[in-house]
Amino acid sequence: MSFHWKVLLWMVAGLAVGLGMQWGLEAPAWAGVRFEACAEGVRVAAVTPGSPAAKAHLTGGEVFTAAVLGRGGEEERRIELDSPADWKGGGEASVLAQADNGEVVWLLRPSAPGSDPFAGALALALSMDPAGSRALALAPFIFAGDIFLALLKMLIVPLVLSSIVTGVAGVGTMKDLRRLGGKTFAYYVATSLLAILLGQFLVNTIRPGVGAHLGLSPAASVGAQGASRATFIDVLRRAVPTNIFESLGDNGSMLSIIFFALLLGFFITRAGEHGRVVKEVFESFFEVMMKMAEGILSLLPYGVFALLVKVTAATGFAPFRALLLYMGTVALALVLHSVVTLPLLLRLVGKLNPRRWAQAMSPALVTAFSTSSSSMTLPVTLRTVEQRGRVSNKVTSFTLPLGATINMDGTALYECIGVIFLAQYYAGVGGVALTLGDQALIVLMALLASIGAAGIPSAGLVMMLTILSALRLPVEGAALLLAVDRPLDMLRTMVNVWSDSCGAAIIARSEGEEGPLEPITGGRGG
Ligand code: ASP
Repeated sequence: MSFHWKVLLWMVAGLAVGLGMQWGLEAPAWAGVRFEACAEGVRVAAVTPGSPAAKAHLTGGEVFTAAVLGRGGEEERRIELDSPADWKGGGEASVLAQADNGEVVWLLRPSAPGSDPFAGALALALSMDPAGSRALALAPFIFAGDIFLALLKMLIVPLVLSSIVTGVAGVGTMKDLRRLGGKTFAYYVATSLLAILLGQFLVNTIRPGVGAHLGLSPAASVGAQGASRATFIDVLRRAVPTNIFESLGDNGSMLSIIFFALLLGFFITRAGEHGRVVKEVFESFFEVMMKMAEGILSLLPYGVFALLVKVTAATGFAPFRALLLYMGTVALALVLHSVVTLPLLLRLVGKLNPRRWAQAMSPALVTAFSTSSSSMTLPVTLRTVEQRGRVSNKVTSFTLPLGATINMDGTALYECIGVIFLAQYYAGVGGVALTLGDQALIVLMALLASIGAAGIPSAGLVMMLTILSALRLPVEGAALLLAVDRPLDMLRTMVNVWSDSCGAAIIARSEGEEGPLEPITGGRGG
């Protein structure tokens, strides 16, 4: 069975098992209290046996206006319950569903303005009874999902370092590096930025994350660190590392690592024989890392399964509805970029017929779609652009391998949409809304992430973790996006390769080549 079908199958299996748990297993007993919405806030509907503390203090019909959750006497997050709309989940408070076992919930009674809101508050220690609840059954899936995520995170630093160093150092070996390199980078950066800005516009317009019910626990860090969050300038300053080995030990220092890798790659080309040795070491290291990534990604179906069970069993269908809008936003941006932006560039700058160019490129596009990997597609891309697109080997051998690693328009816009989507969600559950500086930072980081992402399946999602940690957003959000990553990965990889091929054509035309004017649309090269 092909990998794609396997992923899909485990995805469906995860969904089924998760839903089975929803129906088959008793919901966690939230301190034995059931609530319902009322006009003033929430009302205690029933006090069930099993929670003596709650029984002693609560009577049916009592009204509360807010819930404050915390542990050890610390108030961590407060959720206003001012309308029945806050009260989702079939009579179980969504706020309480966000609490952990052992946490204390203060339920605030209506109080006179100006008086201590905690006066008369009811403190309730949440004690979930694990026996028979979903919590126990879910534990192994949560464990497996966590391990899988850890494996992905483990790959970040070595992959980024080695892929950028080899990419930049590889350019340096070309004779006419300056001219060709300048054009190539200008094309890559311009198209990636256009893609990101389109994604940013769409995600801020459609706002798929606002009010989404993703069932992710709001990490205390989102709100708590709001005051001390780094500004854009701080982040730029920190991008220059004082100690690269320290940065390499920290997934949050990705900008420093990328900065160092760019410099290292560049100076490798200036260091003669020594540079050559270092370059070879990095190339071999990169190859080995790619193999390791491949191995870890072979676990993808099971990782998806575990994460899907966890999400479905804990929260039902709500996240998928929310994710449908997110997926639609990504898909719309991908379609607009590939049928409007890139064809316009092909026609205006390359003076080529976009439709005919797309037809000529179909073998590479189909391969990209079915492998979800620009790197695996590269041999096909090279052959297709040369033989069906009639671009010279000089241009293809320079631009395409580089493009497969660093030019990822689809990935770039995906990073931007994914991160802003999660930020929109976290802002709604007690986090801090993104500032203009944050948005600018996301654009920059999405560009760097698309450059740093390896051309392998799901690499874009791995890179998203780096942006999330740089913004101090909980990386667990990306775990949820993993569940629906496969179809989006197929689409964005196709856009990545489509942009690589358009770039090769435009650069060839700018070098005076006439071949691409007459692409062969049948016959050889497929
Ligand atoms: N799979 C993509 C590629 O190879 C990268 C990504 O995950 O966005 O182009």
